[in-house]
Amino acid sequence: MKKKLALSTQIFIALLLAIVAGIALTGNPAIATGYIKPFGTIFLNLIRWIVCPLVFFSIMAGVVSMRDIRKVGVIGGSTIVYYLCTTACAVAIGLLFANLFKGIFPVLSTSGLSYEPSATSVNFMDTLVGIFPSNFFKPFVDANMLQIIVASLFIGFALILIHDGKEADFKAVITVNDICMKAMEMILKLSPIGVFCLLCPVVAENGPAVLGSLAKVLLVAYLCYIIHAVVVYSATVKAMGGLSPIKFFKGMLPAIIMAFSSASSVGTLPLNMECAQKLGADKEVTSFVLPLGATINMDGTAIYQGVCSVFIACCYGINLTLPQMLTIVLTATLASIGTAGVPGAGMVMLAMVLQSVGLPVEGIALVAGVDRIFDMGRTVVNITGDTSCAIVVSELQRRRNAKKART
Ligand code: ASP
Repeated sequence: MKKKLALSTQIFIALLLAIVAGIALTGNPAIATGYIKPFGTIFLNLIRWIVCPLVFFSIMAGVVSMRDIRKVGVIGGSTIVYYLCTTACAVAIGLLFANLFKGIFPVLSTSGLSYEPSATSVNFMDTLVGIFPSNFFKPFVDANMLQIIVASLFIGFALILIHDGKEADFKAVITVNDICMKAMEMILKLSPIGVFCLLCPVVAENGPAVLGSLAKVLLVAYLCYIIHAVVVYSATVKAMGGLSPIKFFKGMLPAIIMAFSSASSVGTLPLNMECAQKLGADKEVTSFVLPLGATINMDGTAIYQGVCSVFIACCYGINLTLPQMLTIVLTATLASIGTAGVPGAGMVMLAMVLQSVGLPVEGIALVAGVDRIFDMGRTVVNITGDTSCAIVVSELQRRRNAKKART
């Protein structure tokens, strides 16, 4: 009997085939966009369809299986501290390297730039208010992940409280969560086709010529993505998660390829959950930490915002001061929380970062043409950061439990 290829191998082959086919079609991208992309869209639509109920029930199942609001608080607290620290570190790396290499950045003309960002209205208070839903169903209709998380936490807490410490099996929630997971598993079997159909049109449309003058900025951003992933995540998973970095990145490969092809953290969430659990993260932790991370933890996006701020400032002939850089660290960390895990969202939030230091928002037009290429790399970093957190928090939780058992 023939042995079936592992899903990760299939995804990797799909990635290679997509690059080859994309290059072959660069002269004729209409074929790729007209006939191949729609199948990628079908795959992404299926993921979008399952991801809202999946996040809702997965967080709820995570909360009720902890059976203790304080424990949720401890895990939630460690998760948020980890996310904030790594994100601040990411912007700092982005700013540092962009400043080191800004001499090689091209100085593009800024006259006649126009960018109409719906994002001029994006500010921190709006983001804060937007986290809380005002209607039970709207978060699902709008696929608003932050609101879904809040709703799911409320109901999860309510479920724990009505049982008032009494033993309860919360069977209904767990069963519905299992059904969502099964449906997700079925969709994930299609990932190799999804990866091929999503990536091939991107390669065909963005042949090497589009990189043009921005190649060096992209290069610096990718350098930072790699440094952040290799240095920060390797250090945290090794020191706090007790896992070898090589094993970590190897286990993450299917999710990394998926993130690179789809440029969507939310779209990669199901596969990421599978990878995290295979790497030894606890189910109750993953089901809570990863959906939260896909929504609020965006280290790659933060790096991109740091690099692009310096590049845009250069084009306008502005030298950023140290206090301005610190403001960027703060706003990019907050902006990445408000960034949705979908393609292109990070570019919209760049407006908030630029505004915070008085840089012209129209500068976004300078990088908009190659945003997808920035986005593929930043999404990989975003989801890798989420899983590193799941590994670390699971290990910390295990240590806490062992300590409790001893005393
Ligand atoms: N595409 C990114 C993600 O899904 C968000 C961004 O645009 O930065 O994680």
